[in-house]
Amino acid sequence: MRPTGKLHLGHYTGALENWVARQNELDANGNRVYETFFLIADYHSLTTSLETADIFNFTIEMVTDWLAAGVDPENSPVFRQSQIKQHTELFLIYSMLITASRLERNPTLKDQVRDLNMEAVSYGHLGYPVLQAADILLYKGNIVPVGEDQLPHVEITREIARRFNNQYQHPHNGDVFEEPEPKITRFSRLAGLDGKTKMSKSLGNTILLSDQPDEVFSKIRKAVTDTQKIRKNDPGRPEVCTVYSYHCRFSNEELVKEIEKDCRSGALGCVACKKMCAEAISGDLAPILEKRSGFAERPEIVKEILLSGEEKAVTVAEETMKEVREAMKIG
Ligand code: AMP
Repeated sequence: MRPTGKLHLGHYTGALENWVARQNELDANGNRVYETFFLIADYHSLTTSLETADIFNFTIEMVTDWLAAGVDPENSPVFRQSQIKQHTELFLIYSMLITASRLERNPTLKDQVRDLNMEAVSYGHLGYPVLQAADILLYKGNIVPVGEDQLPHVEITREIARRFNNQYQHPHNGDVFEEPEPKITRFSRLAGLDGKTKMSKSLGNTILLSDQPDEVFSKIRKAVTDTQKIRKNDPGRPEVCTVYSYHCRFSNEELVKEIEKDCRSGALGCVACKKMCAEAISGDLAPILEKRSGFAERPEIVKEILLSGEEKAVTVAEETMKEVREAMKIG
């Protein structure tokens, strides 16, 4: 994740929840199924803004949210991309293994250019997925839990891994990289409050993971619903309603069914529906908010977590780079 400050519900339902689930997954013998690494993509944030003054504070805010949502730094190293130099080294090598035209076809890049009204794309922004491939493959990641917008990037990672293995073989191990699989959730593209298909900080349509119940309520009150449902008892179309899509994630199944039926028949007005939605979201976030307040008071703990995560990550990253250099007969 890029350090863009406090996280919103899209980050949570599309990625963070899935990270924590993978981190905590146990096999029949009670052993962890996955070894998990969580990376702060601080260099990646330069692709859309060259402003660096807030990066450190944003990092602390973001990691505070991660910890509140259940990331356990004892089990999962949490680290900054910029502090592990092997990322830039592997990025450079990978950038020779993919064509510029392949990167120009990346749909996620096209969406960003449109959403941010960008006039030109930097060489580094074009290479976003190449750096991401290095982020994933340095740790030999086989599962990448991401939101839907990142699927094209995981595909590019797979292509780069394949291309590397075709070109270079390790003298003892053969293939250096495995092709990773993306892992998406049911809510891998959470809509924004304004009805746009993606909740995003740059679009200003977010509910934050750290919003207090009154903030959640006041944001949900203004959320876009079915624009054809004008009066309270007009029949509505849940399938086009943002608030209904939030109910699907945050309310229990029974209530979701009832809301769908009553919205369609016109028995349920948007005001009452939004109130229930805000309550469901805040109910879900309550334990996160409580845990968050403990970490927010002690940012020095978060900094220590980064330093210790970086120590663990660099060891793994350097092992992989040694293999890469041996396969390439460089160094
Ligand atoms: P980013 O802030 O672009 O680095 O995104 C971090 C992670 O959150 C990525 O896996 C994204 O796919 C995911 N993500 C961001 N916004 C949303 C959203 N609105 N819905 C679902 N997932 C999202």
